[in-house]
Amino acid sequence: MTSVVIILGPPGAGKGTQAMRLAVELGLPHVSTGDLFRENISKNTPLGELAKTYLDAGKLVPDEVVIDMLFSRVAAADCANGYMLDGFPRTVAQAEALSERLDSDWNTRAVQLDVQDGVLVERVVGRLLCRDCGNIHHETFSPPATDGSCDACSGELYKRTDDTAETVLERLAVYHGETSPLISYYSERSALEVVDGARAPEEVFADLRTLLVTSEASQQEAR
Ligand code: ADP
Ligand code: ZN
Repeated sequence: MTSVVIILGPPGAGKGTQAMRLAVELGLPHVSTGDLFRENISKNTPLGELAKTYLDAGKLVPDEVVIDMLFSRVAAADCANGYMLDGFPRTVAQAEALSERLDSDWNTRAVQLDVQDGVLVERVVGRLLCRDCGNIHHETFSPPATDGSCDACSGELYKRTDDTAETVLERLAVYHGETSPLISYYSERSALEVVDGARAPEEVFADLRTLLVTSEASQQEAR
């Protein structure tokens, strides 16, 4: 049995922070569609050029574009034994495309990070990312020890251009309209777990770890 773990949740729910740590624990590659787009944007590829307008407006990149990019990423050898998805699927059409791609040997599980909208805007607007290792800080909730420099690797911290108050509101609206239907999609397929994401990152991680790492280990023993 090969696992695809999907981290679902609105912008600022903590998907990136948790997925990065969980991927290490589970030994699965962390595949973030947002990171893949940002990489393409910083390298000025044609895909990056196309995606940039959508990202800056807080809109979804069209399904065909995201699906193509994601499928070529997960075709790589490091994903052969499973992977952790962060930011995909974001629409029911994307979930259906993923499910068509995976045969019955693949076990797909989704975890929803549940956080109320009120908390999210503040989390996103104060977010700081490391240019070198992708580590995520926050101006007030998890400030770096030294201003502007990542605690994990001393890399330069920066703000995403789409982490503005206006764009976050648009991204939240898009989440509620297009992505939140995935909660019923996975729950109807008995593949959904819900974790309260409105707590400190360590507490959220402890719950995710219990849910995913423990069940993963028991699955491996059963093999
Ligand atoms: P967040 O979860 O904080 O909103 P991400 O880094 O996951 O941020 O995504 C940033 C942006 O990248 C989205 O607002 C959207 O424009 C684009 N994007 C990422 N993943 C997808 C996807 N699966 N489908 C469509 N657009 C996507
Ligand atoms: Zn770093």
